[in-house]
Parts: sequence; C-alpha cells; structure tokens
Amino acid sequence: MGSRKKVHAFVRVRPTDDFAHEMIKYGDDNKTIDIHLKKDTRRGAVNNQQTDWSFKLDRVLHDASQDLVYEIVAKDVVSQALNGFNGTIMCYGQTGAGKTYTMTGATENYKHRGILPRALQQVFKMIEERPTHAITVRVSYLEIYNESLFDLLSTLPYVGPSVTPMTIVENPQGVFIKGLSVHLTSQEEDAFSLLFEGETNRIIASHTMNKNSSRSHCIFTIYVEARSRTLSDEKYITSKINLVDLAGSERLGKSRSEGRVLKEATYINKSLSFLEQAIIALGDQKRDHIPFRQCKLTHALKDSLGGNCNMVLVTNIYGEAAQLEETLSSLRFASRMKLVTTEPAINEKYDAERMVKNLEKELALLKQELAIHDSLANRTLVNYDPMDESQIAEINSQVRRYLEGTLEEIDIINLRQIQEVFNQFRVVLSQQEQEVESALRRKYTLIDKNDYAAISAVQKAGLVDADGHLVGEPDGQGFGLGVAPFSTKPGKKSKSKKMFKEQLSSSARKEGASSPLSSKDLDVSASKTQLTPSSKDGDVKDMLMRDRETSNTEPLASDSPKEELRPPRPSTPPAKPVAFEDFKNERGSEINRIFKENKSILNERRKRASETTQRINAIKQEIDVTKEALNLQKSLREKQGEYENKGLMIIDEEEFLLILKLKDLKKQYRTEYQDLRDLRAEIQYCQHLVDQCRHRLLTEFDIWYNESFFVPEDLQMALRPGGSIRPGMMPLSKIVSLGEDDQDRFSQLQQTMLPEGPDSVSFYNAKVKMEQKIVKNHRGMEKEMQPTPVLFPGESLGQSLVGCSPWGRRVRHE
Ligand code: ADP
Ligand code: MG
Repeated sequence: MGSRKKVHAFVRVRPTDDFAHEMIKYGDDNKTIDIHLKKDTRRGAVNNQQTDWSFKLDRVLHDASQDLVYEIVAKDVVSQALNGFNGTIMCYGQTGAGKTYTMTGATENYKHRGILPRALQQVFKMIEERPTHAITVRVSYLEIYNESLFDLLSTLPYVGPSVTPMTIVENPQGVFIKGLSVHLTSQEEDAFSLLFEGETNRIIASHTMNKNSSRSHCIFTIYVEARSRTLSDEKYITSKINLVDLAGSERLGKSRSEGRVLKEATYINKSLSFLEQAIIALGDQKRDHIPFRQCKLTHALKDSLGGNCNMVLVTNIYGEAAQLEETLSSLRFASRMKLVTTEPAINEKYDAERMVKNLEKELALLKQELAIHDSLANRTLVNYDPMDESQIAEINSQVRRYLEGTLEEIDIINLRQIQEVFNQFRVVLSQQEQEVESALRRKYTLIDKNDYAAISAVQKAGLVDADGHLVGEPDGQGFGLGVAPFSTKPGKKSKSKKMFKEQLSSSARKEGASSPLSSKDLDVSASKTQLTPSSKDGDVKDMLMRDRETSNTEPLASDSPKEELRPPRPSTPPAKPVAFEDFKNERGSEINRIFKENKSILNERRKRASETTQRINAIKQEIDVTKEALNLQKSLREKQGEYENKGLMIIDEEEFLLILKLKDLKKQYRTEYQDLRDLRAEIQYCQHLVDQCRHRLLTEFDIWYNESFFVPEDLQMALRPGGSIRPGMMPLSKIVSLGEDDQDRFSQLQQTMLPEGPDSVSFYNAKVKMEQKIVKNHRGMEKEMQPTPVLFPGESLGQSLVGCSPWGRRVRHE
C-alpha cells in the first residue's frame, strides 16, 4: 500500500415515522444528501439566511440493514487489520441518532448486532482461514467521561485494581493507555463476553455513578498480532482496530444546564470541537502540527486518526424536522472528515528473541560450513571462537617479537586473529610511545611546544632562541633543555664557543642588525675556528686575535635600537659601481679583506717566483761559464802533457777551484728549482682562492644590493633574529627570488600572526611546515656549495677538509 487515501465518510439515517421528506433528499447515486431548510419567518421575509445544502459523501445509508452497514463500512477495515494496517471506525452524531445501534447494535437481537460483534466475528473467521499464521487477539474497552478515563473491563476478576489513574502514553510504537486492561481472547465467544461485560458496565455506571452514557466516548480496541508459523521470520505484524462510539454531538445549551449537566456539556463540546480541530488540521496538507493532545479523546486516538491507518466515519443522523440543525452540523463534520487523507502502512516489527535464535542457527550452520572448508584445505584445528586472555597474550608476544626482528612473520590463521594482531600492534605502539616519553622525561625537562608561557620563560633565561632552538645549536630541531651543545659543555672552556659567539656578534655588527646570518657566514666562523690552531703563521693568528678582541669590546648587536638608527632607504637605488664601493666597506668588508689578502699573497708569490726564476737563470749562466772554463783548462792540460802519480791524475789548483764552483752552482740550481716548483703550486692554489673570493664578493654584493634597495622591509623583519624565518635557514638569494605573492603572504603572516599572539598556534604550525621545506632546500644547496678540497704540499686530505671553506682559508706566509 503506502499511497495516500481519503477517510471514508458515510451517513446513516435512523429510520423514523416522522421523516422530514421535504427537507432531506437523497441523490440517486446514494452518495448525495441535500438539505433544504425553510426560511425562518421570524427573521422577516428578506434575509440572507442560507436554506440549501448539498453534501456528497462516500455513501448514504438509509434503511440499511446492520448487515449492509457492516459490509460497506467495516469489512475492509477489519480484513486490512489482519494484514498489519491499523483501522478506526468512528460513529458521530447527536444522541439518539443510532451511534450505539450502529456500533454495538441491539445486544438482545443477534440479527441486529452492530459493527463491533461482527468485527470480532470476522477477525476469528479470518484467523481460522490462515493456519499458516499464529494470530493473537486482545481487546480493551475504554470510556472517556468528563475528561476521565475508565476501564470498562476492569471489573473482570483477573484484573487487579488499578493503582494509579490511567494515563495516555506515547512511545515510538504509538499511543497506549497505561493502566488499561488488555484481554487476550482466543475465541469469538470470549471476545463477545468481554464486549457484553463492557456494555453492562457502561449501563451500570450510568446508574451507580450517575453517568449519562450518551455523554461519554467509548473506544473498543481489537489488537491483532500475526506471526508466520511456517517461516522462521523474525518479522511480525501488529495492528489495532479502534471502534469508537462518540458522545452525542448535540450542542448542549449551557444556559439551561447546571451542575453535572453543565460539566458534561462543557467537556463534550470541548472534546468534540477538539476532535473537529484535529480533523481540520489533518485535512490541511500544509499543517504539520496536529493538536492531538488538547483532550483525552484526540490524544488517545492520536495514532488512529489520520496517519497510517484506514479510517472510516459513520455520521448518524436523525431525519426528523426538529433535529435538522443537528443533522446539518453532523453532515458538516462528515464532509470535513472526508478531506482528511491517511497513508495506511503495515506495522512491521521484529521479534528480538526470534531474531537471536535465527542468528544462532545461522552461525552454527556457518561454523559447520567453515569446518568443512578447513578440512578440505587441510587446515585443521582452526578455532573461530572469540579469543581468551592467553591467546591474546600470545599474539601480543608475537607482535613484540616481530617488531624486534626475532620473529620473521606472523602466520595468518583467521580474520579474528588478524584483527587481534592489529589490535596488539596498537597496544605495543602506545606502550612504546609512553616508554620513550618517560625516558625523555627522566633525562630532560621537556617543554610543550604549544606552551608559550613556558617557552618565553626559557627564552628569558637565554636557553633557547626565539624559535625554540638551543642557543649555540646550529641546526637545533627542537627543545631539549639540559642537552649542552658541543660549544657550551662545561670544563671544555673551548675557544670555539667563544669564537662562535664572537663570530655571531661580529657578523651581526658588520652586516647590520637587520641582516640575518646566512649559513655561509656560519661556515666562515667554523672554518676560522678550526683552521687557526693548525696554522703555523703567527701573523695570521695575531690578526685573527686582534679581530676578535676588537669585536669583543663592542656590544653585541641587538635588534631594535640599531634598527631605529638605520638610515632610510633611498627612493632610487644608487649605481652599482658606487654601491659596490659601499658594500666593500660595509657588509662585504670581511670578504673583501680576505679577497685582498689572498690577492696580495698571490702577487707576492708570483713576484718571488719570478725572482727565483731569474736567480735560476743566473745560476744556469754561471754554470755554463764555469763548465766552459773547466773544459779550457782540461784541453790545456792535455796539450802540456799529463802528470800521473800512482794512478792518480794531478790537476792544477785553478782547475780544482773551477770543479768545486761547478758543484756548488749545481747545488744552488737544484735548491732554487725546487723552490720554484713549490711556488708554482702555491700560485695555482692562490689563484683558485682569489677567483672564488671574487665570485663570492660579487654574489654577496648582488644579494646585499637587492636586499638594501629592493626587498620589502617587512620581509626583512621576518629575517631578523626573532623573526619568523630562522637565521641561516634560508639563503638570501632564495628570499630575493620570492614571487610577489609569497612576499605578500609573508608580510601578512608577520602582521597578523605575531608569535605569542592569539592566533599563534596556526601560525606556528604553518611556520614549522615552511621551515621544514626550507631546511630541505637549504640542505640541497649546501651540498652544491661544498668546495673541492685543495691540498697544501705535505697536507693530507683529512686535514684539509676540516672546516674548509674557500674564502675563509688563508695561504701560509712564508
Ligand atoms: P445513540 O447511541 O446515537 O444515542 P442509539 O443507538 O442508542 O443512539 O439509538 C437510539 C434508539 O434508536 C435505540 O433504541 C435504537 O435501537 C434505535 N435505532 C437507532 N438506529 C436504528 C436503526 N438504524 N434501526 C432501528 N433502530 C434504530
Ligand atoms: Mg449511544
């Protein structure tokens, strides 16, 4: 089903000898009823009073037998109830119009029995016709009188006295009356006796409790529950049929009523008008709130009016002229009811107990199936039950051994075991994390990176720089107080620490406070530090020491005060040759000095080489002259005749002196020649250094030139110590090459997300990410910058490589 359906509204006319034929006319279609009212002469001949009405309903039942009424009104609703649809049949009309007759019928006459006993009969008949289903029937009988609830079946011996007054309760399944007795009836007869019991109670109450039965609403409910006997389906259907005999709808004149009658009048009028309001609201598609809870009647019928149930209204009218007003009012109600649409739906429920049983069965079957598969696959003894503690402990141990490397692999047994293995991986991981952390805590004082108060306290103490790196730690990756960097280890009062700091201050001084140290600058310092002790040259040492002493006497460059002293940037940049001169005197002075120094050493070497060459040439000439003189002496001697004494050649003194001189010259020649060779090697090396220094000077100049006249100042802020870019992390050339967008982003970051500010968390996160990227880039660059080692004569590669940097390295003075 599930489609929308209109409420069926029928009219039943009570037979009377005094039927107002002129006033009430039926249409041939058996659906229309026309009312004609004579003009009220009291209002005068001309008035606007309406006199004719026409109502079209689903069926007009006049002179209809109880049989026919049941056929037309109730049969479908009852049979649908056994398929799971709720149904409501309601009789409305003035007292005496035949509501009770229609609903209950004449109890003394079987033929004239009403809808109620017929419905019970149909239900049991249908149960008999459906042996495949176990269907249970329960009934309850509720009376609402003056907004109080009465159980018309509470007098039965097995119903205990109601402790608390009945209340209407709503739950997801629907509305039910708490405290109302519901009676299981296994056969028609039982059901009838319950009906009679209720009817009798209703009549008795009207006497003993002074109740007027026509002033109360009675709701007889048949509850049906159907489960399939053949299918082990956990699904079952429930439904209820509400058979409602409403209180008389006649307007009770308040003016003439008093006491009990007034009270009844008020309640009935109220509850029926609330019923009408609810019905109007139900008929209005745009309304989403239906005022069900305004009175007991509508509240009790909440899930039986409209909604998902089949609904039928029988409007009982009394066709006498005197009752025409009430007839009109009842017909109006009927036509309103006809506008209401419902969406009948099956009430399907799940039997939890049966569901569990079914699942257990299924599980057992699947286990058998698995066992067959396992035996076919030669996998015996595989257990599919949940693991116990010892099995879990075994898996934990396997995971640990696997992580240690003592277990090659973990055998897969079944899904449950795989899940447990993963589970134990998580357990082991979290245990190890805790162990690592507690080990760190034992050794170090750890500071939370997000705890800015703690960080600033540590910064104040001077233990870490603005970025949380240890002071003196060139490549600090985070906090770790108590880890002394190599340069600050106690007892080592190392020069390197001092020099490192000095270098920092000297660089800061020379480059200006606004410039950060580049990684290259740090390299310079490192190379100096390493090289000095091995240098044999006193002058260089002295020079370096002098340099340090002067830098020591000057205060450390600090950020802000110097920043303010900085000259304002010119609007147009100076010519490059002019700027180059400035650069050589300022930022580039150190490189320039080294460059000049190296150049002068090179020149000096060249000069010495040329002097040596000249000397060698002179010696060579002298050797040649001496050789010639000696040859002359020899030929003279041979001409004069030779003297021999005991086999020894006798030569004169002149010749002997010439021989000695030649020997001496040859020795001189060899020494000078060796010197020349050494000098040439040094010249070659020096030339290399001079070239590299020149290149560095020009590169540095370019960077300085861009930074001084082109790079935005706010970006430079970021580069200053304490700025968002860590000193040395990013080569200036990289920054200079930043695109416009990047620079904008930088400056925005700087302005809005100052460290320690309210938004600093996201700032730090972004910064960390950026730094990681920069570090990566920087490492790549460093590799490229690594110079080819040049060896001094007699120096090993190992020595030469220590802290070597092309411009920091000096040539020994001879
Ligand atoms: P209501 O419940 O609306 O107050 P009842 O059902 O008690 O009215 O009817 C009043 C009287 O009219 C009763 O005696 C009843 O037997 C009789 N009556 C009502 N409708 C019919 C009918 N269709 N055929 C015969 N008798 C009727
Ligand atoms: Mg009645």
